[in-house]
Amino acid sequence: MAERTKYILDEADMPTRWYNVVPDLPEPPPPPLHPGTREPVGPDDLAPLFPQALIAQEVSTERYIDIPEEVLDVYRLWRPSPLFRARRLEKALGTPARIYYKYEGVSPVGSHKPNTAVPQAFYNAAEGVTRLTTETGAGQWGSALAFASATFGLECEVWQVRASYDQKPYRKLMMETFGATVHPSPSELTESGRAILAADPDSTGSLGIAISEAVEQAAQAENTRYALGSVLNHVLLHQTIIGEEALKQFELAGDTPDVLVGCTGGGSNFGGLAFPFLREKLAGRMDPVIRAVEPAACPTLTRGKYAYDFGDTAGLTPLLKMHTLGHDFIPDPIHAGGLRYHGMSPLISHIYELGLIDAIAIGQEDCFAAGVRFARTEGIIPAPEPTHALAACIQEALRCKETGEEKVILTALCGHAHLDLPAYGAYLAGDISDHALPDEALEKSLAGLP
Ligand SMILES: *Cc1c(COP(=O)(O)O)cnc(C)c1O
Repeated sequence: MAERTKYILDEADMPTRWYNVVPDLPEPPPPPLHPGTREPVGPDDLAPLFPQALIAQEVSTERYIDIPEEVLDVYRLWRPSPLFRARRLEKALGTPARIYYKYEGVSPVGSHKPNTAVPQAFYNAAEGVTRLTTETGAGQWGSALAFASATFGLECEVWQVRASYDQKPYRKLMMETFGATVHPSPSELTESGRAILAADPDSTGSLGIAISEAVEQAAQAENTRYALGSVLNHVLLHQTIIGEEALKQFELAGDTPDVLVGCTGGGSNFGGLAFPFLREKLAGRMDPVIRAVEPAACPTLTRGKYAYDFGDTAGLTPLLKMHTLGHDFIPDPIHAGGLRYHGMSPLISHIYELGLIDAIAIGQEDCFAAGVRFARTEGIIPAPEPTHALAACIQEALRCKETGEEKVILTALCGHAHLDLPAYGAYLAGDISDHALPDEALEKSLAGLP
């Protein structure tokens, strides 16, 4: 019989519950704090920003949460997503390792982001919200929320980091095609934006600034709420459908992962893949090494400080206990726009502190080399973000080649690069550097933290 390349679940086998890792952890994660009182924030503090259903999920200690039928219905447009065995990459590397990737690029916008955009839009619409605001970097999250908003009849207004707004016109056109309004950030439309522009009229923006603008707008307007595409517990919760499907697909494959790697920007695709496997690990049913991979230009877990910090630049969000480079930190403009966030999900940060996962940072040159290698063997050109995970997969597979170990490696291929091809153009032209964060810049940025 021919060797299997992909493992596909029937729609009827799609998981119908999200998995919440919190009740299975040896200690609960530290709560978000109100910046004024430094007391844990309550539901009332969050109500101007999020609908009640999402606030409840944010603090939930239930192990499983049912996915609403309306959300499952939209998920079925692209889910269950395929699990591939990267046989051609394995062969090219000459490794005895078995490499699997869970491919989230099959979603309508080409990434894992709709897994949370759809439920977020659904719960907002169900509570009478008519307009959502958000930030976006490269535009993966903005296009996901624009699509989800169109699905549930919501208006969607997106603040896009200026550098990307200017450099990546196709994502903006995608958002507009779905009916969203897109502003470059910093903008003159908000107090936070105006303050940044007054200090630096040529500011190219950052995710932290764009979050401030979107949060400020949501807090001030009627029937408007804010949506975040990563970092928060409810976002990681929604992404666990990735790992739940992958577990079922591994059963079909008759295999068990020894090493699980994912790229981390705010931590959502990594957490989404890893948490269901972490549940199995904590229960003693398997024992994979779980590894987060971040860019050397924005090394939040590996070189950041575990401290309470703001999620945004203006200091409008609650204080989150997380690995952070400081909320003023503006990373160099590497091509993996989705990994240029100063902080890390509090849940991932906590799990890292507990020693349940490890983390490494890789420079973008090695990442693009891995992306090209993957494209030339597997045929999919990976988004710049998951090339970080692929570079780590290849490292591990080459180690196996040395030792002869037949390890099973799993990663999330969280998006394709069809709208990021200029980044590959730059790589092919030899015009890419690592932008590894210098010690002095790191020290300066961390100095402001408690
Ligand atoms: C947004 C994004 C990321 C980074 O966000 P996480 O929350 O860390 O997953 C990574 N890859 C792609 C393709 C993205 O769109």
